[in-house]
Amino acid sequence: PSYFIVIFVISRLMSIIGKLSPWTSLLPTELLSLDLATRLHVDPNATSLASGDFGKLTRVTPAAVLYPSSQDDILSLVRFSYSTSSVPFSIAARGRGHSVRGQAMAHNGVVVEMRWLNNGDNPTRINISRSSSSASYADVGGEQLWIDVLHATLEHRLAPRSWTDYLYLTVGGTLSNAGLSGQSFRHGPQISNVYEMDVITGRGELVTCSKHLNSELFYAVLGGLGQFGIIMRARIALEPAPNRVRWVRMLYDDFSAFTRDQEHLISINGGQGVKGLNYVEGSLIMDQSPANNWRSSFFLTDHSRITSLATEHGIIYSLEVAKYYGDDTVDTIAEELQLLLEGLSFIPGFIFTKDVSYLDFLNRVRSGELKLQSQGLWDVPHPWLNLFVPKSRIMDFDSGVFKGIILKQNKTTGPILVYPVNRNMWDDRMSAVIPNEDIFYPVGLLQSSGMHDWEYLEDQNREILEFCDKAGIKIKQYFPHYKSKQEWMNHFGTKWDMFQDMKTKFDPKAILSPGQRIFNSF
Ligand code: FAD
Repeated sequence: PSYFIVIFVISRLMSIIGKLSPWTSLLPTELLSLDLATRLHVDPNATSLASGDFGKLTRVTPAAVLYPSSQDDILSLVRFSYSTSSVPFSIAARGRGHSVRGQAMAHNGVVVEMRWLNNGDNPTRINISRSSSSASYADVGGEQLWIDVLHATLEHRLAPRSWTDYLYLTVGGTLSNAGLSGQSFRHGPQISNVYEMDVITGRGELVTCSKHLNSELFYAVLGGLGQFGIIMRARIALEPAPNRVRWVRMLYDDFSAFTRDQEHLISINGGQGVKGLNYVEGSLIMDQSPANNWRSSFFLTDHSRITSLATEHGIIYSLEVAKYYGDDTVDTIAEELQLLLEGLSFIPGFIFTKDVSYLDFLNRVRSGELKLQSQGLWDVPHPWLNLFVPKSRIMDFDSGVFKGIILKQNKTTGPILVYPVNRNMWDDRMSAVIPNEDIFYPVGLLQSSGMHDWEYLEDQNREILEFCDKAGIKIKQYFPHYKSKQEWMNHFGTKWDMFQDMKTKFDPKAILSPGQRIFNSF
């Protein structure tokens, strides 16, 4: 009972404070009559926090921030903007704000801090359904962090199949993009591993959708950049969780051998008595230092050997793979792995193996984050560029971009990822845009800079895009960011008409996710 008294007193106090602080002229005063009014904050503390993101390149101030206590708060807010307000105001769901270019911001609109759904008297919004006959799944709130989904599912010895490298991202945020990591070649991105969703559309309607029910909305929302609805619940496919992971990195000085081996490894996917790897990624190591970023704790003991190799070659390529195993395969894992890696062309002697728990493997970049945080190097500008490069041009990309621009300019200050995925794991009905080839390479240039000197990295990004354009390399941007409607149309290509139709159908007043700057004025 004392808990409820405290909650009651706090909510009354918030209500009084809310009424005392001046209301914004940017939003209709009628909003104050809604039940959610006490959770709608217009004070500079709240609006300032919602004005930035992980990128630290953009600041956009909203008129207010909603700290929702329930799904109904969000439903009423969107419904009000759509049908009651004479001038609709924009609304952006904000997961953890880990976008880098203002995608979760709302100029003069309302930012909904989705993580608040996880607060206070809300029971945890992760529910697991275990099934031996059909597929197991987890129903998770769009505001949930993947790390929390992992912890909850592991209690049932289950886990999602497809991941991102970093787990402190929200389910709604990654499903609005794609959600990629080394498992994607095998299971597709996270958006290929969703059975069902509850979505609040831009018309203020709560709709359940799946492949068979309201399928237009289902596919539009997956990779839909938040344009059609706010994901309130997603039903995520689960598989039995392994106990442990054999994790290997191999170094190459030859990009052609590196990609040939990567492509070979992602082609072994079941069949012939070999089950294949569970994870295939790759990254660049430049001569500055292999431990110069948040993903490289792996190499700590072999530091100097690798540094001198990188100094000698300028760039070396690290092929990273993992094979999961459990108690039943503990005796055979080494042999299985050896068979899978047989015939690969890495530099002799430069293969490194670790054996870790499944949890530690999936959460592998967290320690790097904490280290950078403690050094004050995490909360800095991140002028990231993420691209999908078609397989047919990956060699040209290596010579023109990795060697031609990045190595020459010697401007890397963060991880550079490059690994292939199979297009057949992506359903073309989803909004996500990918190159039109069977295999393509996600390339992540995950740069960071000092607080005031990020422009030179933006210049480098521009140069990379110009190079691809001139060389006719038909890349697609992942986490796309454009300044004109024409560029968005080019990005979506043949999908543009459908994307626009879906917008008209589900968010005709262009209320949702204005920070993507697709349908809102620039
Ligand atoms: P936000 O940035 O808050 O939101 C992103 C977009 O989605 C916005 O447009 C927002 O309005 C919308 N949105 C948010 N929640 C919802 C919702 N519930 N319903 C509808 N729309 C919503 N990505 C990968 O694919 N693979 C990786 O390995 C990877 N690693 C990363 C590592 C780090 C350190 C960081 C910072 C990012 C990484 N990302 C990766 C990128 C990440 O997927 C994006 O930042 C993504 O936007 C998720 O972040 P978020 O949950 O904070 O979403």
